[in-house]
Amino acid sequence: MTAHETALAADGALPAVIHCSRLPLAFQCPGSLRPPVDMELVADEEGEDPAAMGTAGHEIMADVAIGDLDELPDVSLYADLFEVDPDDLGMLAGRAMKCWRELKPYMPLPRRVEETLQAPQMVGTPDVWGLYGRTARLVDYKFGRLDLDHREQLAGYAYMICSGFDPGVVETVEAVVVLVREGAMRKFVWTPGELRQWRRRLDDEVVQWDGRFHVGGHCRFCPRQFHCPARTAMIQSTIESLVHMEMPTDLTTGAAILDLYGRIKVVSQAVEQFKSYCRQQLEAGRKIDDGNGRSLTLASRGRDAIDARLAWPILSRVLTEDELAASATINKGRMLEAVAGKAPARARGRARAEMMEALEQAGAVSRTEYRVLTEVRE
Ligand code: SF4
Repeated sequence: MTAHETALAADGALPAVIHCSRLPLAFQCPGSLRPPVDMELVADEEGEDPAAMGTAGHEIMADVAIGDLDELPDVSLYADLFEVDPDDLGMLAGRAMKCWRELKPYMPLPRRVEETLQAPQMVGTPDVWGLYGRTARLVDYKFGRLDLDHREQLAGYAYMICSGFDPGVVETVEAVVVLVREGAMRKFVWTPGELRQWRRRLDDEVVQWDGRFHVGGHCRFCPRQFHCPARTAMIQSTIESLVHMEMPTDLTTGAAILDLYGRIKVVSQAVEQFKSYCRQQLEAGRKIDDGNGRSLTLASRGRDAIDARLAWPILSRVLTEDELAASATINKGRMLEAVAGKAPARARGRARAEMMEALEQAGAVSRTEYRVLTEVRE
């Protein structure tokens, strides 16, 4: 057992059905599926992508698939309905549509859209799927900023599709996850035999759990993270290690550094969650003080901003055009927002992309490289 694993003490039971959206986390830590006895694990159809923006995006792409549309419908109607920013939704829907145009020739009508599938102990709703000859194809959109591997979720859908047909009807399942924010797609291909093996792995690793929790960065997606004895114990032991550690004598090997790095990520997440809780309380008007003059407040900090239009004639009395340009930067987000604002609602994503392409071709875009600590697994 590693430092990141903790044996089960006392915990709740596996739910009667496992939703596929929970599988990526469940394969990393089957404990995530077992709520403690006094906590209810809320079934969540969307799973990792419950935000209104994701729901609106799914709704748009469902209507595109159902109506066999070649262009996006009026995104502003969906933005109003789900109360989300129409520009952000337009940008995401534009990226999803671009991917769908590539996929659509492989998924002619008839298609099944947002149809709930079932198999023993499993349930799930892929966004679109269909059977074409002996190949089943499915597509699932991810609108959130997530870094869980969706392979297991799509394998769950693929398994349920296969098990809904007589043996031999489906020879291959091709599954594509569309990572909308990145404008990227990942494809997985399975045979029915591979999916049966996957199901055995689900039974062996997740259903027949060995009782070990696996604490890690994925805990921030876990619905029971604040009710998890393993995560709590790990945070406590990491803080203990930090307090008593002598650097660098205690960190002589790469493995020791990586182990502590992984544990500290979980501690930092807990710290950020606590700070976010404090901020929310203060924003809601709660006073946080100890009655002895010590309090927590949201302090205002100022930063000067210079209005470019007003400053330009004044500065140009002193600076050359090149010197002025060197001291000015263009806010990419705001600039693209302004560009999108000049285009019709359904063409805003394209307007942004075309502007970036034109700027890149003119050599106006440069990239500043910076380095961040990143844990890589081979
Ligand atoms: S918080 Fe982490 S370790 Fe605990 S059950 Fe969830 S995923 Fe597992």
